[in-house]
Amino acid sequence: MIPFFLFVLGVLIGSFLNVLGLRWNSGKGIEGRSFCVVCKKDLPWWELVPVISFVGLGGKCSGCKSKISWQYPLVELWTGLIFLSLYSAFPFVFDLKGGFLYILAAAIFCIYVVLTIYDVRHKILPDELVYAAIILGFASRLIQGGALLDYLVGPILFGFFGLIWLLSRGRAMGFGDAKLALSLGLLLGAPAGFSALVLAFWIGSVITLTIMILGRLRFALFRSGKGLTMKSEIPFAPFLILGAWISLIYHLDLFHVLSFFNA
Ligand SMILES: [Zn+2]
Repeated sequence: MIPFFLFVLGVLIGSFLNVLGLRWNSGKGIEGRSFCVVCKKDLPWWELVPVISFVGLGGKCSGCKSKISWQYPLVELWTGLIFLSLYSAFPFVFDLKGGFLYILAAAIFCIYVVLTIYDVRHKILPDELVYAAIILGFASRLIQGGALLDYLVGPILFGFFGLIWLLSRGRAMGFGDAKLALSLGLLLGAPAGFSALVLAFWIGSVITLTIMILGRLRFALFRSGKGLTMKSEIPFAPFLILGAWISLIYHLDLFHVLSFFNA
């Protein structure tokens, strides 16, 4: 019952995060009625039910039939799954500390969802959001406690990305990625924090290669599009966030898994 409730809560919050991610720094407030961005039609409540309305309307606006972005149901479902899965990492029934840790982790991942939306669109991570994630991550680490290394994962990851940023003069990584890595290192501790990093590079490589190959194919077949090259700017933050999510809920220790295969 609790997991189901958390999933629904996550989906509802996800629909709010959609709006937040789209309107952050845009000068538009988050208040005001929701309307279709194409025909400006005000949306009644039954067209605003997360996921269900999108499916029911066939992904189209009921007024002008223009396509509604897949971002909406995807972000809603993703946030639902995050809220559901964080429960396995921080079960909190009759456990005040667990409850507190769950809320902190959920808040951090809400920020991560907004950062993902924002980074994909603008290729930059807003400072206010990343700093908030760092503070919440630090609070979570203080409550979780742990060995010295658990406290140091964040700063180590920060140094790692900071170095890439410095050596590539900001071309390979943004400084925002370093700050993001600090926040997730604090939240995850060791070894999950390091696993998140490795996983992020794996996921990033697979997705980047897939996009590149599809782009080349499309160019070869239809002579359209430029085809993606290594120089194309693909935001790295979403991969870091996916890596952090998976590592956290599975208590992932890739180094242990790898040494197991070597043995
Ligand atoms: Zn419309």
